[in-house]
Amino acid sequence: MDTKQIVKGFETQLQNYKKKNEQTELGRIVFSGDGVVKITGLKHCKYGELLEINGSIRAIALNLEEHEIGAIVLDDEDKVATGGLVSATGDIVTVPVGPELLGRVVDPLGNAIDGLAPIKTSGKRRPIETPAPVIMDRGKVNEPLQTGIICIDSMIPIGKGQRELIIGDRQTGKTSVAIDTILNQKGKGVICVYVAIGQKASSISSLVHLLSENGAMEYTIIVCSTARDSAPIQYIAPYSGCAMAEEFMYQGKDVLIVYDDLSKHAVAYRSMSLLLKRPPGREAYPGDIFYIHSRLLERAAKLSEFHGGGSMTALPIVETQAGAISAYVPTNVISITDGQIFLETELFNAGVRPAVNVGLSVSRVGSSAQIKAMRTVSGKLRLDLSQYRELAIFAQFGTDLDAQTKSMLAQGERTTEMLKQPVSSPMDVEKQVIILYITMKELLKNISVKKLSAFKVGFLEYVDTNFPQICKKIRENGNLDFETSQEIEAATTRFIDFYFDKVK
Ligand code: ATP
Ligand code: MG
Repeated sequence: MDTKQIVKGFETQLQNYKKKNEQTELGRIVFSGDGVVKITGLKHCKYGELLEINGSIRAIALNLEEHEIGAIVLDDEDKVATGGLVSATGDIVTVPVGPELLGRVVDPLGNAIDGLAPIKTSGKRRPIETPAPVIMDRGKVNEPLQTGIICIDSMIPIGKGQRELIIGDRQTGKTSVAIDTILNQKGKGVICVYVAIGQKASSISSLVHLLSENGAMEYTIIVCSTARDSAPIQYIAPYSGCAMAEEFMYQGKDVLIVYDDLSKHAVAYRSMSLLLKRPPGREAYPGDIFYIHSRLLERAAKLSEFHGGGSMTALPIVETQAGAISAYVPTNVISITDGQIFLETELFNAGVRPAVNVGLSVSRVGSSAQIKAMRTVSGKLRLDLSQYRELAIFAQFGTDLDAQTKSMLAQGERTTEMLKQPVSSPMDVEKQVIILYITMKELLKNISVKKLSAFKVGFLEYVDTNFPQICKKIRENGNLDFETSQEIEAATTRFIDFYFDKVK
């Protein structure tokens, strides 16, 4: 062995020794309360690093100050007390990932909380915070992600890899839109992750029930943090859900992730930041409130074919107060996402459900992903509807309306009625096309508005049994040719003339 080699050997030994020493550096807790601890003595700690208190309790370092570190406790905070010993692990928090998680309800650290057997994953873990895919790794959003909700798929289409915000006041059907979208992915090969942030345990339990009843749990993971959980646990929930979803995306699969909801996430982060004594800004949120959501939502992407072609579509939900979409968190998330579905209390109370405000809702990238048949039938829909709404307000004041206005109002009323849809009943895209075609062609003129919902159900059944080729052709060709549209018209006339009177 020559001298050079010996010196190199010594150097490596020395480095390893130094590393070991760094890893075993110990700190001490000087303050503990509400899930937040202050630690002194950890000189080499990094931002976001995983810390271990008393060898077992996990914490994340968030404030790096000159003499002390502020950290948030993830596990049992009751067992943390002043004087406790803290060691830095040199790593960041990871969660278990893999297909074994499908069908399960887990907490944000990946532990099963559904009372079933512990989850045995392959041992693979992913860090909860990872950089978003870079521009060159991304592909174009060009495939539709069907929500099964007719007014969304027709006017606010969502593409795979898109981030579409669902925004509205409390109890306007936000969660229902997201859940219906999950239900509609059955048999379509899309894996779903639902992240509950600070919700009531009872709502999550009924949601799990609903998903299992409809056979949707098989392809769904529920990451659950309830209102009872500490702010740090609620804070990491969306990041760990995202890590679980990313695993599938990087394998080339399609994933849909729902964050329900980011307003509660922002509130959890605010309380943590205030406890960490960070300076409060607008609405008492800390300065980096934009960044916690932007770095989360940027991780949703459509990967290029070269990188497997997988996708992660994100549906974040934000709750507004009295329709104020210009509040701090709503404007932030609106500016990060590729569009929003705005749900309105007035419409909801008037019985227009889903209560989508078509004027304020938009999808910035999804229309290129829409199938051709849908584009053909829904082209004029948005304009017609907004004209109708304007006219309806105007018409309230006058009694003497001319024939043309009357017919526009009648048509608008019928369109609105045909776009109504109850919960848990997603509709296939070909059926949506048929419904929109007959509505836009004004074939329903002679049916009274009250009978339209019965008509819709009856007619779709009638088409299914007597003209199965219509749906088949739309599904296979992706467009609506002249012959098929003639068939739809013939079926409608036949149904109205011979059957509808009997079923109504
Ligand atoms: P929260 O603010 O409490 O989270 P939310 O906005 O998520 O409420 P949901 O929980 O989805 O609203 O819905 C509220 C209620 O409205 C539920 O009882 C649901 O069944 C009903 N609902 C939602 N969408 C529809 C619909 N399209 N048709 C009929 N009822 C609906
Ligand atoms: Mg909800």
